Amino acid sequence: MPSRAIERLEQIYAIAQHRAGYSAEEDAAHELAAGWMREAGLEVSRDAAGNLFGKRGAARVWAGSHLDSVPTAGRFDGALGVVAAIEAAGRLPDRELAVVAFRAEETGPMGSKRIEETPDAYLEVHIEQGPVLAGLGEPLGVVTSIAGQARAAVVFEGRADHAGTTPMDAREDALVAAAEFILRVRAAPVGAAVATVGAIEVEPGAVNVVPARVTVAVDARAPTEEELDALVEAIGFEPAVRNRAAQMGDAFAAVLPDAPRLVSGAGHDAMVVPNASLLFVRSLNGGVSHHPDELSSAEDVELAVDALTAALARLTAP
Ligand SMILES: [Zn+2]
Repeated sequence: MPSRAIERLEQIYAIAQHRAGYSAEEDAAHELAAGWMREAGLEVSRDAAGNLFGKRGAARVWAGSHLDSVPTAGRFDGALGVVAAIEAAGRLPDRELAVVAFRAEETGPMGSKRIEETPDAYLEVHIEQGPVLAGLGEPLGVVTSIAGQARAAVVFEGRADHAGTTPMDAREDALVAAAEFILRVRAAPVGAAVATVGAIEVEPGAVNVVPARVTVAVDARAPTEEELDALVEAIGFEPAVRNRAAQMGDAFAAVLPDAPRLVSGAGHDAMVVPNASLLFVRSLNGGVSHHPDELSSAEDVELAVDALTAALARLTAP
């Protein structure tokens, strides 16, 4: 029998696969969640950014995630954290806490960046969106940090020449220089760091012309600021965009002392909300995400709700 959490994820998905931030579809998901919040004994409110809160009492401890989604979304990314928080709040009827659904995470995060008060703790349950927990045979993982990111477009200048008449030793081939750079990007990361060239533009881009100018897009991520500095240095580029690594709190570690520890390579609301702790739930189907095949089992979701309930109970004890 499917759990209520899984049924509710299906109901949110039935509104629309793509629930863009601040769209009618995201509004409808917020309305649905608001009803479940009231059922769980929470008082519903919204802030200026449109974030949805279900509060009980002083509500200094928050749990939640987001209800917007990407065009190719599955059922779990974001929605799982909101549904799990409502379940946990319902199991703790005498505790002062808040469930929150942040606006427009996928295109920002826009909502969580504009909160008007700082919680003493923010707890987020999220599908892993990767294969690590499945590989370990573990249902849940405690996230220690969300990786910092550095990005830039790196340009290589050469000289356009005739591909037939220019001897090999007389060329300044921008694409060959870019290719050496791409191999350096692959070789540079150590530990949990990662680096990627995901886009490339070749000019003039003709089969019979030596490339004169090449632009590559590099994306580098690492668990700490120090490791990100070292990675940027090893690759050798000047970041145009840099997002700081965010260390996560120990709210889930306190109730899951033996669970594996992970670094999140993807950004989440927990990256911008102060005093955040993040719990990952095992992704099945090879860790596929932002795709309809994205999946966590009902059993694993139930374990995550149990862990969230225990963590909230500990933090809100009278
Ligand atoms: Zn998400």
